[in-house]
Amino acid sequence: MKKYDCVVIGSGPNGLAAAIELQRSGLSVLIIEAKDKIGGGARTEELTLPGFAHDIGSAIHPLGFASPFFRQLPLANFGLEWVYSPEAVAHPMDDGTTITLNRSIEITAASLGKDAKAYRQLMKPIVKNWEDIAPDFLGPFRFPKYPLKMASFGLHALQSATWLANTQFRTPAVKGFFAGLAAHSILPLEKVSAAGIGLVLGALGHVVGWPFPKGGAQSISNALAAYFKSLGGEIETGREVQSVSDLPDSQATVWDITPWQLLEIEGLTLPSAYRNQLKRFQYGPGIFKVDWALSDSIPFKNPKASQAATIHLGGTLEEIAQSERDAWQGKHNQRPYVLLVQQSPFDPIRAPKGKHTAWAYCHVPRYSTQDMTEIIENQVERFAPGFKDTILQKHTMNTRQVNRFNPNYIGGDINGGAQLITQLFTRPTFSLTPYRTATKGVYLCSSSTPPGGGVHGMCGYHAARTVIRDIFPDVKQRGTIVR
Ligand SMILES: Cc1cc2nc3c(=O)[nH]c(=O)nc-3n(C[C@H](O)[C@H](O)[C@H](O)COP(=O)(O)OP(=O)(O)OC[C@H]3O[C@@H](n4cnc5c(N)ncnc54)[C@H](O)[C@@H]3O)c2cc1C
Repeated sequence: MKKYDCVVIGSGPNGLAAAIELQRSGLSVLIIEAKDKIGGGARTEELTLPGFAHDIGSAIHPLGFASPFFRQLPLANFGLEWVYSPEAVAHPMDDGTTITLNRSIEITAASLGKDAKAYRQLMKPIVKNWEDIAPDFLGPFRFPKYPLKMASFGLHALQSATWLANTQFRTPAVKGFFAGLAAHSILPLEKVSAAGIGLVLGALGHVVGWPFPKGGAQSISNALAAYFKSLGGEIETGREVQSVSDLPDSQATVWDITPWQLLEIEGLTLPSAYRNQLKRFQYGPGIFKVDWALSDSIPFKNPKASQAATIHLGGTLEEIAQSERDAWQGKHNQRPYVLLVQQSPFDPIRAPKGKHTAWAYCHVPRYSTQDMTEIIENQVERFAPGFKDTILQKHTMNTRQVNRFNPNYIGGDINGGAQLITQLFTRPTFSLTPYRTATKGVYLCSSSTPPGGGVHGMCGYHAARTVIRDIFPDVKQRGTIVR
């Protein structure tokens, strides 16, 4: 077998990011992917009917666009184009009120009534300081470069989301709106990191918007892969690595997989203390996902919701908090928080002329096999009566099917592990360089390392920098170092 400097196992956004950083530093890199197609959680396919392109995993990419690493790469030259809906997010309520997150803080705040001032005061400093503080929370734990700015962010971020919503805001609609942002964390809203994730996603709406790639998430993966190959990198698909003996010779292996999968790889001599730490890694709840081919656009009660690609369905703070608590505690909520995405009104190539696609999921207990299709459709119908009449075809995945689509989604957990504060910056083990395993030359680069879930490639980037520091200290730095 041919020899490489590094072999990356898995072609998710983090595997691709790690491979690019290593390859552009002058090293020879091979990516081996288990599936026939590259991209991991960032893939698009005709899941329902011919001509309807559905994002199987990720759909909306504020972090992908804002990623300090992806921003350095010439991805536009490799076909990546971004699409924006006029409003980033919509949060409809039962009385027809709909809050939308606009790129402008002023426009957003002006629509929040009694909560306008509180919203401005909360968001403005985060948005203003974004470029200084983002590299610190998009990487491993370290002393912040701008401690005062980080402390001011941490003051709000390190609270429970329910506490933050209740102490900052007065109206049920704005409290619900914040809960919808925080619930992306897939955590009970009482957990401290949920507020931070809500604040980051809200601020990103003002910093870069919530764009998505033209044609689907696969466009991000394809652009990354094409750039990697243009640098001389190689990719092999359709080969699942089960043993170190499946790998060609290299000085480093970089695994875009989660801790429990690493434990299953034959021939990896991980010390028992490290193995025990990986065994204790905590995964979060799973998801139940539905994709629809629709005969028409979604008939929202309030047309404001039609202006946003992402819609948070779940109503009040109390309802959303209960829904997230239930998934965490092993229960199925009957009116769950649903993340709904409609790309085709803004990206018409996703569906045949006049037709539409929609994508949704709710959080469920890990390993759940319960069919949540009707429950999710009822939630859409609640805010968009007549929605069910537009359904032409649907495709669903319970947690086990999600896990079959991608072996990294253990029990349906799409974040590579629970994003608890104890597992946010030091995942999967308590270390300042959690990308390095306890075995020389073996590294982790998946979303089970900091900064966690999402299509941003920052786990891969930091893992690659660790590999270079450890094993190839003499290679020349090609891009700008992200702190
Ligand atoms: C339904 C859904 C919705 C989501 N929505 C969003 C969103 O809107 N925005 C966002 O930013 N993120 C979203 N995410 C999360 C995002 O997709 C993940 O956080 C991201 O893909 C993680 O990237 P990764 O590179 O760490 O791992 P993955 O993308 O999971 O890639 C891992 C790759 O490794 C391969 N692999 C695993 N084991 C082996 C092996 N033994 N041998 C060879 N190959 C192997 C897998 O096949 C896979 O291709 C969503 C995910 C899902 C499923």
